[in-house]
Amino acid sequence: MQNEENHLTDEIAIQGLRPFGTSIFTEMSVLANQHGAVNLSQGFPDFDGPRSIREKAAEALVRGPNQYVLSYGIPVFREAVARKMKRFHDLDVDPDTEITVTSGATEALAATLLGILETDDEVILLEPSYDSYAPVAVMAGAKIRYVSLDAPDFSLPREKLAETFNGNTKAILINNPQNPCCKTYNREELSFIGELCKKYDAYAVGDEVYEHLVYDGHKHLSLLHVPELKNRCFVVSSTAKTFSMTGWKIGYVIAAPNLTNAVRMSHQFLTFCGQGPLQEAMAFAIDFPDSYYHELLADYTKKRDRLSDALASLGLKVFPTAGTYYLLVDIRSLGYDDDVSFCRMLTEKGGVAAIPCSCFWNNRSRGKELVRFCFCKKDETLEEAINRLSAFFGRR
Ligand code: PMP
Ligand code: GLN
Repeated sequence: MQNEENHLTDEIAIQGLRPFGTSIFTEMSVLANQHGAVNLSQGFPDFDGPRSIREKAAEALVRGPNQYVLSYGIPVFREAVARKMKRFHDLDVDPDTEITVTSGATEALAATLLGILETDDEVILLEPSYDSYAPVAVMAGAKIRYVSLDAPDFSLPREKLAETFNGNTKAILINNPQNPCCKTYNREELSFIGELCKKYDAYAVGDEVYEHLVYDGHKHLSLLHVPELKNRCFVVSSTAKTFSMTGWKIGYVIAAPNLTNAVRMSHQFLTFCGQGPLQEAMAFAIDFPDSYYHELLADYTKKRDRLSDALASLGLKVFPTAGTYYLLVDIRSLGYDDDVSFCRMLTEKGGVAAIPCSCFWNNRSRGKELVRFCFCKKDETLEEAINRLSAFFGRR
């Protein structure tokens, strides 16, 4: 039976997907639960977002309707996104023709890539890259070319990137702020990418889910701010991080009207539409006053600094976090050199789970020195994690 099942799986799987296996986020969260570890691996808050948003959703669910909504999202949500893009990023976006609401950024990325890529098109991924990018590019039948960002500053390797672009390049994906490097791209880097896209008539897809988690007084730069990318970029975002409700899966894609048509075309055959009552509640949340957004950032700044100081005091080399809610460390500073066995050991014996970062590279021999901890947790959770880490590394 076992063999038959395996055989069946082999028959039905898209061949190109086989190497990807189970997501590292599932793997580490399951391991954390098995060992009662403090879970600083998969990036989700251990608290729910504001009660007023949940009450708004409850009211909308009870009142109804609870039927399909317009495939590309309810107007009030798209209008709220358009207002927010003006308020925070000084960008004019047309809610009717330039926004598509999706089931999280994950579906937004899939709808975008499946909407624009054809078999044998090339797509450029900057590594370390978020785990869903490569599998979706494979599902679209595209060929992937990888370009690695390297420590210590993970800056754009311009020469390598320019060599990688060619006449078959259809798109490049840019995650800004970057998970797991925690860097933000500067204007020069984005313009450089924009110029290459223009030269090779390629698209740029921006994954900007951490747009509101940019620290130390810096402002988020969107692909939509890059003049060279006018009418050639798709910007993906999500309400998951900003409102601490990762389970709701409400994301969206912003793009020029003709590009939006490509996204809407594939989105309608992936999920058709999202959940109306939840979109209604998130529209209310997006319109929160600036103070909400400032407090979120202030809270996360404190958590970042607290965990960063604690990891550094254990002797770990901690990279700066300019954006996201993660901290990246180099485990060689404690004498380790294998991220996967380090994370397994830390979860099982130290009682703290983190993410091994080699899984964000196509070539798994890269990134073996890097481990990611998330700090989107209650203060008491972080305290418990810090105590366990101190006890564990103290008694080595
Ligand atoms: N992109 C990046 C870089 C992420 O870290 C995540 C995780 N939230 C996602 C996309 C997926 O977002 P969502 O949960 O809205 O699908
Ligand atoms: N984005 C989250 C992270 O980077 C994980 C999301 C997921 O589990 N798919 O940790």
